[in-house]
Amino acid sequence: MPLRCLMAGIGPPHRFRTIRLRIYFKRLEHGRERALARPCWFWMNAQQGELPRLPPLDARIPQWPPQSLVDRKCPLCGRNNPHVLSRPDGLPVAYCLQCNLWYVSRAPDENTLIDWYRGYWRTFRPYELTARTAAALRRTALEDAKGDLRFKRLGALSTLQGSRFLDVGCGIGVDLVKADALGAKVTGVDIAPEACAFVSRHLGFKTNLGNLEDAQLPSDSMDVIMMADLVEHPLGLRRLLDESLRILAPRGLLVFWTPNGGAAGTSCETAKEWVGFRVDLEHMQYLTADSVVLLAGQYSCTVEHLESLDTPKLDDIDRPQVCKRAQGTTLRGSLSRIPGVRRIRNAAFSFIEKSEVKVTERDGNFRLFSILRKKGSA
Ligand SMILES: [Zn+2]
Repeated sequence: MPLRCLMAGIGPPHRFRTIRLRIYFKRLEHGRERALARPCWFWMNAQQGELPRLPPLDARIPQWPPQSLVDRKCPLCGRNNPHVLSRPDGLPVAYCLQCNLWYVSRAPDENTLIDWYRGYWRTFRPYELTARTAAALRRTALEDAKGDLRFKRLGALSTLQGSRFLDVGCGIGVDLVKADALGAKVTGVDIAPEACAFVSRHLGFKTNLGNLEDAQLPSDSMDVIMMADLVEHPLGLRRLLDESLRILAPRGLLVFWTPNGGAAGTSCETAKEWVGFRVDLEHMQYLTADSVVLLAGQYSCTVEHLESLDTPKLDDIDRPQVCKRAQGTTLRGSLSRIPGVRRIRNAAFSFIEKSEVKVTERDGNFRLFSILRKKGSA
């Protein structure tokens, strides 16, 4: 994609005794140039060590050990980019112009992160990891899958019945259960031991503990690879993608569902306004639509689907997390098991839902949903 960078306007700055540097980015799009960013000061701020620090929002702020922090280059191209601003956890983020990607530019090392993810589903994102939760997930799996935008889109592109389905970062297996209900042969990978134990013990699916590379899955062995809320997490994003494309069979589908870094814009001013840099502070990079298109080209994939959608879930995010359990163990699930009550229950909940102000999943641009197809003949 043609990208041009013009540097102009050298003169004294208002705040710093350094050279004023104005940078404009323009991109040829449909035969005309469109400004991607306003003149921005983040280069100069980076030089001065005066990064804007975003205020806390998410109550869960990881305390990264200072001795574990190391400078980090762009996880896709390996270039150095200047820090733009600082998240509430103190980690700086940078923007790579080459890859159209926001990323944490000084991050905890790999071992610290692996340790940090141990117990993730008990402490950071507490969930009731019991047979009751597994039963609830299974009870609503087919209904949930049919209402899930990602599975609806996957179903339109390929049949899931009998397909080999890998969920990388499967967590407690919510998507594995849905794919299984649609007839797929499912496998999970996750770095959190308690998640893998729950999925294999209570849901009965094969899981691999660790990174995708640790699983050592055969080449061309999967028809669908799901990465829901995953690609924003690992330090080694390139390693993850290389391994995924090796494992994915020709004509196979790779699904990204991730925070949309494109919603942060490309300037310091727009980035400061984006809520994504203030929540879920274990995230290490933020893909944009442009970066997905770039990756598709680099990995010889076609883009089957690319959409920004959804709004951030911020309810009670400023309070300590309470332990959750799957839907279906709630009042609605209990009532449905009482004979004769189902019809009254449905009418009541239908009335309540109609009276609510509906925010549809497709409102907003907080997330990026993309499906890539690996080229080749099946
Ligand atoms: Zn880059």
